[in-house]
Amino acid sequence: LDMVEKVEPRIAAATRQELTDQRASLKLIASENYASLPVLATMGTWLSDKYAEGTVGHRFYAGCQNVDTVESVAAEHARELFGAEYAYVQPHSGIDANVTAYWSILAHHVESPALEEFGARTVNDLSEADWETLRKRFGEQRLMGMSLDAGGHLTHGFRPNISGKMFHQRAYGTDPETQLLDYDVVAQQVREFKPLVLVAGYSAYPRRVNFAKMREIADEVGAVLMVDMAHFAGLVAGKVFTGDEDPVPHAHVVTTTTHKSLRGPRGGMILATKDYAADIDRGCPLVLGGPLSHVMAAKAVALAEARTEEFRTYAANVAANAKALAEGLLRRGVRLVTGGTDNHIVLMDVRDFGLTGRQAEAALLESGIVTNRNSVPNDPNGAWYTTGVRLGTPALTSRGFTTSDMDAVAEMIAGVLKSTKPTTTSKGEPSKAKYDLSDEARQHSLDEAERL
Ligand code: PLP
Repeated sequence: LDMVEKVEPRIAAATRQELTDQRASLKLIASENYASLPVLATMGTWLSDKYAEGTVGHRFYAGCQNVDTVESVAAEHARELFGAEYAYVQPHSGIDANVTAYWSILAHHVESPALEEFGARTVNDLSEADWETLRKRFGEQRLMGMSLDAGGHLTHGFRPNISGKMFHQRAYGTDPETQLLDYDVVAQQVREFKPLVLVAGYSAYPRRVNFAKMREIADEVGAVLMVDMAHFAGLVAGKVFTGDEDPVPHAHVVTTTTHKSLRGPRGGMILATKDYAADIDRGCPLVLGGPLSHVMAAKAVALAEARTEEFRTYAANVAANAKALAEGLLRRGVRLVTGGTDNHIVLMDVRDFGLTGRQAEAALLESGIVTNRNSVPNDPNGAWYTTGVRLGTPALTSRGFTTSDMDAVAEMIAGVLKSTKPTTTSKGEPSKAKYDLSDEARQHSLDEAERL
C-alpha cells in the first residue's frame, strides 16, 4: 500500500480503512468471510495481465501455458474436494456461474437436439427459419426455484432477474406454519409445472436441504437438478453436509461462489456430471469474459486449504457457532425464522421489537455488529425495509470465535434490539427507517465488540 499511496492516496487510504473496519466490528454477514493471506496474495499478481479466452489446451490466445497450469490445478482440486466428475473454475462470480450453467443446460437440452433434428453440425449451419424455431424453443423453457422471500436467490428465477427472462419461471416456497421446505408440496408443484430446470439452494434459508429428495422430485418429470451451493460450499467441502445433504452426488449441475463459507477469493465455479462438460467449457467466451487467471490461481490455493483437516474443523465450528448463536438469541426472546438453524445462517424476525429489518440493521451497525436486513416469508414490510435480519457465522469462525463467544454475541444483539425504539416521520407517522437507540446500549455493545 505504500506503493499505491504514491499513485492514488485515496485508494491506499480506503483499503487501509477497510482493514481497520473489518477488524473493529463483528462481521455477521452470512455471505462474507476472511480469506487467508496466501489466497489474498495470489490475487495480486501479474497473472492478471494475461488473456486466456477458451479453456485448458484450447485457447484463443498464444502463450497460455502457465494459465493452463493454473486452471488445471484449480479444477483438479475442485473435482477431488467435492467428488465431482467435472469442474469449471472460470466464472467471475456466483451470478456468472448460474447464468453460464443455465445457458449450458439450454445448449445441452435444447440446442444440441435441435441441431441434430435440423441436420446441422453447428449453429452456423442453421437457416433463418431453423434459427427462429430454435430461439422460440429457448424461450419456451421453464425453471423453478425457491422464492426470494423463502430464502432463494435472485438468479433462481426472480422475474426481473435475467434468470426470470431466460425462462418461464415459477417459485416454490416454504410451509406457512413451520417455514420449512415441504418436499411433498414442492413435488406437487414440479409435477404441475414440469420445469426443464429445478433449482435448489438458497441465500437465506437457515436449514439443510435433502438433495436426494430434490433429485427424486426432478427425476419424476425429467428435470435437470441444479443446486446453487454458493452459501454452504464450505460446509460441503468440510464434510458437515454429507449423504443426502451433499448436493454433488445428486445434482446434474452444482454452482457456487468461492468467497463465502468456502473462504476463497471472490469468484464462482461450476461442478457437473461429465455429460455437461463440453457445453460448460464453451462458457468463455460465449457467456463469460476472459478468465481472471490471478483469481483462478487464488481459487486453487483456497481449494487446497479446504482439503485440510483444519478446514473440516473450521466447517464444523461454523455450524456449531450458528447453533450457539440461535440458541442464545432464542433464550433472550428473539424470534427466528424456522425456530432455529442447522447450517451457518440465522434469520431473525424483529417484528416483536416493533422494528423493521432496516431499523434493526442500522442500530446493530452503530453498535459494532455488521449484518444485512432480509425478507422473511410473507414479509409485511417488503424487500426494501423487510422484517428480518440475516446473520451468519463463517467470518467470526475464521476469527476463532467459539460457541461461548457466540453466546456473548447473542447477548449483544438482543441488548441492542431491546434498546432500539421506532420513531415517527416528520409527519408524525410511524417510520420504517428511523429509530432511537440508547447511548448506553450502543456503548456497551461497542465495548463488547472490542473485547471479543
Ligand atoms: N447464489 C447465491 C445462493 C447467493 O447467495 C449469491 C450471493 O449472494 C449468489 C449466487 C451470487 O454471487 P455473486 O455475488 O458472487 O455473483
